[in-house]
Amino acid sequence: MTATATTAQETAPAALEVHDVHKWYGTHRVLDGIDLTVRPGEVTVVIGPSGSGKSTLLRVINHLEKPEIGHVSVGGELIGVRRVGDRLKELGERAILAQRGRIGFVFQNFNLFPHLTVLDNVAAAPVATGRLGKAEARALARELLTRVGLGERTGAYPRQLSGGQQQRVAIARALALRPGIILFDEPTSALDPELVGEVLSVIKDLATSGTTLVIVTHEIGFAREVADRIVFIDGGRIVEQGTPARVLDHPEHPRTRDFLAKVL
Ligand code: ADP
Ligand code: MG
Repeated sequence: MTATATTAQETAPAALEVHDVHKWYGTHRVLDGIDLTVRPGEVTVVIGPSGSGKSTLLRVINHLEKPEIGHVSVGGELIGVRRVGDRLKELGERAILAQRGRIGFVFQNFNLFPHLTVLDNVAAAPVATGRLGKAEARALARELLTRVGLGERTGAYPRQLSGGQQQRVAIARALALRPGIILFDEPTSALDPELVGEVLSVIKDLATSGTTLVIVTHEIGFAREVADRIVFIDGGRIVEQGTPARVLDHPEHPRTRDFLAKVL
């Protein structure tokens, strides 16, 4: 969470840049010209109606979907394309995987490996990508699980945990690759209401520790607390964006007002 934008942040490469991204399925335009810049340490919360393109935007950023037009860069490096002379060339699968390793992704439904313990769920990726040896990865996993309040459950299997605990494991797993940015797609919407708070509190800790985050959520109160910037998307376009006070308390666009009237 950045209270004030410093000069260093203004000049550092953006943590994330989305340039004029268009994505369509047949004749259905799901993203219709998205431009978004996220500074290092900035927390961006994306809100908008169901079907407005929020998940698709995160999937394009993480290279799970390919845009028809536009491109994305993370930490100053283009994803999915490489500049050759003046032309943009598509990256090979290996380069895409390497770049994807710099982005953490936390899904609505946790997506843990059911056959692995909590510890191995977190330790697996740094080993598989060759970044850490097995012992180092397990030590890191213990540290991260302690950080999300699960230091006592490292030997459990996902099915033995509550949804809130599983989602905290998923957050520890995302952190294990030491990503430059973490994307959250409605991280609490599959949880029973009494489990939402523990997950939001872990995300809030990340936000205040300077991790760069992009969070899609309908939890408006939480968005107000953690966001440096709120981005409202409707119909595949950014309708308006600004500080929480600006967008939530003084929405300029009628579509933002309509949406907020329904969720607040
Ligand atoms: P949100 O996350 O804001 O609810 P999505 O990004 O999931 O919205 O979806 C935006 C629109 O794109 C929806 O109308 C959805 O039906 C459509 N869509 C998403 N993925 C696909 C796909 N693989 N094929 C066809 N349509 C899709
Ligand atoms: Mg979605």
